[in-house]
Amino acid sequence: MVNLKSKKPLIISGPCSAETEEQTLATCRALATTGVVDMFRAGIWKPRTRPGTFEGIGEKGLPWLQQVKQETGLPVAIEVATSRHVELALKYGIDVLWIGARTTVNPFSVQDIADALRGVQIPVLIKNPMNPDVDLWQGAVQRIQAVGIQDIGLIHRGFSVFGSSVLRNNPMWHIAIEMRRRMPDLPILCDPSHICGNRKYLHEVAQRSADLNYDGLIIESHINPDKAWSDAAQQLTPDALADLVRSIEWRKENTDNPEYVRALEQLRGQIDQLDAELLGILSRRMSVSDRIGQVKKENNVAILQTDRWSDILERVTSQAQKLNLSEDFLIKILDAIHVESINHQNAVIHGRRTTDMN
Ligand code: PEP
Ligand code: MN
Repeated sequence: MVNLKSKKPLIISGPCSAETEEQTLATCRALATTGVVDMFRAGIWKPRTRPGTFEGIGEKGLPWLQQVKQETGLPVAIEVATSRHVELALKYGIDVLWIGARTTVNPFSVQDIADALRGVQIPVLIKNPMNPDVDLWQGAVQRIQAVGIQDIGLIHRGFSVFGSSVLRNNPMWHIAIEMRRRMPDLPILCDPSHICGNRKYLHEVAQRSADLNYDGLIIESHINPDKAWSDAAQQLTPDALADLVRSIEWRKENTDNPEYVRALEQLRGQIDQLDAELLGILSRRMSVSDRIGQVKKENNVAILQTDRWSDILERVTSQAQKLNLSEDFLIKILDAIHVESINHQNAVIHGRRTTDMN
């Protein structure tokens, strides 16, 4: 049986959707020839945001994947969203299942899948939910673990955003990092295709995941990407996929080279010292906020003075370049400090810590 930890980096590729027998076989044959792929992916049932677009070929496509597996000797993975999908996947000898982002958000659906997997051993990959909710993602993993599935992996595919932005989904790397902190034994793959939504940034996002010590990639590819029935803008030809995979630099997780160990220890010592100073300064800053809260209380003045806040923001962000810090980062830090400061002043004014505002 396939094991998600059998190789690092694990590279999964294939079309967003299995469309026709010819397209599925041609894509996978070409991918197999490149030698960079460890496993194929293809969507059989497609969870489309709006009706009227291609919703997947369904059961009819499963024998095509059997054929791919037989010809290339490589395992195949599909998305499952219901217990019926699981039954059919098992019936047709699919090797690996993945749970899509729109399914991970729904505990009823995840439980339905889990129930169909009771007593079965098959690797399951779980995509992050559409919304940046680590508990929901972890909850989905726990439901699958609870029925005895042992080989579970994570897929980071980014989070839905309102409005248009450069990337289709916001990666919010810190959410994936928190998930890994909570579940350090699970391998994690990056899905740059669904993070990017177009080919342009695939390399940058994939390289970022390699730099963050991810365990592999799942990237969409298609024999004729521009003609794809779903996600045309983000799919690569098999050759372009191979070039991309070869261009990613994977680094080792660690080394016991004494020079490295010594240098890192020394630098981490400095970081710990600076963190301690930062926290001390923050704590002192909040004591000053408490005193401000007291003065405002005595004079019955509102906590928020927008002008003052704008001045602080302006003064600090104008120094961004000189400090070698991004404006974006400074605004985030200041925002967090400001909110905590308001919460402190609130506590002083009301004599107790009220519901935190953030
Ligand atoms: C897919 O992998 O084709 C897919 C539908 O992805 P997601 O669940 O990440 O949107
Ligand atoms: Mn897709």
